[in-house]
Amino acid sequence: MPAVLRVALPVPLPTLFDYLPPAAGQAEVGSRVLAPFGKGKAVGVVVEVGAEAAVGSTRLKRVLRVLDDAPLLDAELMATLARAADYWLGAPGEAYANALPLALREDRPLPELREEAWALTAAGRSALDAGSRRGGSRALLEALARGPQSADLLHEMLPGWRDAARRLDAAGLIERAETTGALPAPTTAAPALTDEQRQAVQSVGEALGRFQPFLLDGVTGSGKTEVYLALIEQVIAQGKQALLLVPEIGLAPQTVRRLRERLGVAVQVLHSNLAEGDRARAWLRARSGEAKVILGTRSAVFTPLPQAGLIVVDEEHDGAYKQQEGFRYHARDLALLRARALNVPVVLGSATPSLESLANVQAGRYRALHLRARPGAIRPPQVQIVDMRAQRLEHGLSPALLAAVGDTVARGEQALVFRNRRGYAPVLLCHGCGWHAECPRCEHPMTLHAGRRQLICHHCDHSARVPVACPACGAPDLKPQGQGTERLEEALAAHFPDAPVLRIDRETTRRRDAFEQLLEGLHQDRPAILVGTQMLAKGHDLPNLTLVAIVGVDEGLHSVDFRASERLSQLVVQVAGRAGRAAKPGRVLLQTHHPDHPLLRQLLAQGYAAAAATLLEERRSVQLPPYGHQVLLRADALQREPVDAFLAEAAAALAGAPLQLAGPMPAPMPLRAGRHRGQLLVEADSRSALHAALRPWYRMLSSLPSARRVRWSVDVDPVDL
Ligand code: ADP
Ligand code: ZN
Ligand code: ZN
Repeated sequence: MPAVLRVALPVPLPTLFDYLPPAAGQAEVGSRVLAPFGKGKAVGVVVEVGAEAAVGSTRLKRVLRVLDDAPLLDAELMATLARAADYWLGAPGEAYANALPLALREDRPLPELREEAWALTAAGRSALDAGSRRGGSRALLEALARGPQSADLLHEMLPGWRDAARRLDAAGLIERAETTGALPAPTTAAPALTDEQRQAVQSVGEALGRFQPFLLDGVTGSGKTEVYLALIEQVIAQGKQALLLVPEIGLAPQTVRRLRERLGVAVQVLHSNLAEGDRARAWLRARSGEAKVILGTRSAVFTPLPQAGLIVVDEEHDGAYKQQEGFRYHARDLALLRARALNVPVVLGSATPSLESLANVQAGRYRALHLRARPGAIRPPQVQIVDMRAQRLEHGLSPALLAAVGDTVARGEQALVFRNRRGYAPVLLCHGCGWHAECPRCEHPMTLHAGRRQLICHHCDHSARVPVACPACGAPDLKPQGQGTERLEEALAAHFPDAPVLRIDRETTRRRDAFEQLLEGLHQDRPAILVGTQMLAKGHDLPNLTLVAIVGVDEGLHSVDFRASERLSQLVVQVAGRAGRAAKPGRVLLQTHHPDHPLLRQLLAQGYAAAAATLLEERRSVQLPPYGHQVLLRADALQREPVDAFLAEAAAALAGAPLQLAGPMPAPMPLRAGRHRGQLLVEADSRSALHAALRPWYRMLSSLPSARRVRWSVDVDPVDL
């Protein structure tokens, strides 16, 4: 048997692939190679060298080329990825592919790392003086008027600058510059930390240089970010690197600004909205150790950290950390794996910690650090329930809620009406016969979007024109049922004709930077009414926002998903945290038909920690996560029969194992985008028993003939059942 290379190729199969070494060049573990695959070629990562071939050498092909002189992925990342693929029962090739920015998964030279900078040309200066350009182009000209700027700084100041740069470069108004001015020195001084903050910084500071997880549990506005900043400062001073994960791109720009203004170092940003070349450059700078501070969303957890000092996961409870396709890892849990391998502390921060993390604190695996006070004049908002039973509602809004909004704008302040549903109304119903508009591909109600005059399926994006009369009975009175943000915007604008009403959801912020621009306008001390979804739930400081009214909580109270109560509690507390961030006191209204619901009562009277403790007890009593462990097998196909056949075989293969099976059964949405869906939930009290049984099962699944007739995936610790 010849010695072979074992290569991870980006395909959804549970195996590595054996190849003969290349004719020229040395392939090392962690290097990328170009290999023949199927009818074409693929870029893979070498996982093992000198392995014994599993098949006879006559069938082995030779690697075409080694792409890297030195390994691109270091030993720690290789080891962590192997563990991650094992834990999340993922295809190893997909795990390795996830770790690399797209531009590095291709057979191309590595991008140039020399710092990119831009400057005005003489023509550019004239154009600026003549005021000839508008919008993004003008903003870029102005940014360069003070001298050459690095691309990194431009990213931070003008998130969409690249398009403008392309235009201006083509017009000869700007050019690549050789040097940039020095990085601006830190412009803001750290505030004197509170006792609690100092304690937190000290505890983590003492753990630098070894693995220790911390849960930084602090109400919104308690100064968690200041704690991260102080720790990152220490880490940089030791010449080490810090990785800070945030759940959403939307939170990145303001955090980058805050980091740079405080630390006076370049911050490398990694998220999916970046141009691929920029993303690859940031990744490579981290790999060389040049980048000291790396800020990014989910996939940034795979950034190489040769001089790792600290990993921070902000808003650790956020669902966005879970990847929902391909390699279904959880970035928070992966951050833990990496911190352990790198021997560094990891700080998970949240005002509403996940039940998983709270259970880890209870079990002694994480150390809890608490920030209970808010520094400065910030007072916690006052939360009240608005009983909407037997009230005359105006498009779903109660008189008490409308009165509170009216008082707020009359004082010159801002109010937020929060509703986590886009569109005008979730259902369009015929009063004559009961027909309702349904997506033919999902058998689910379609959402009415009045402004676009369309019915849109929020599950598959299928759209249709709004019928003028009922397609079933011909009656002309089709009635929207329920409220989305678009309808609330209309209702509030009609009720308060003198106040500006602003809607902030995916629809109104489709354009790049529209979100930032909408919020920019709000920072002024003007009265306004905001209507918004989840997008507004986090991050942004709106100092003049003093009232938050939450509508639609009842849906969260009635969900069958066992995580719904946890999510609702987190959402209510996070949204409430938007009120009264500055000196003005904040007020929060919860509009509900269930004013006596125990969860709402406890949340209001005792706060998130108490509500979470109750929820944890409930989970423990029925052995649900985090006390029990789950793996979900999903399958879908254009017909139902292959789905049932595959799942039945998969279930049969587990007979006799010490596991509980729920299903096979239809998925909560049995049909979606025209595909029939089914699932099999596998549960066990012991994590190791679950993995021991499912590892061979997972590998076996892809060899089942019935697997070829469906799309299927395995989800370890699923968050959406
Ligand atoms: P969190 O991340 O917990 O929501 P931040 O770190 O953003 O909180 O702090 C909230 C606000 O309080 C910010 O405006 C911040 O500048 C301010 N702040 C934080 N710590 C202090 C402190 N020790 N002294 C004064 N102001 C502080
Ligand atoms: Zn009808
Ligand atoms: Zn649909």
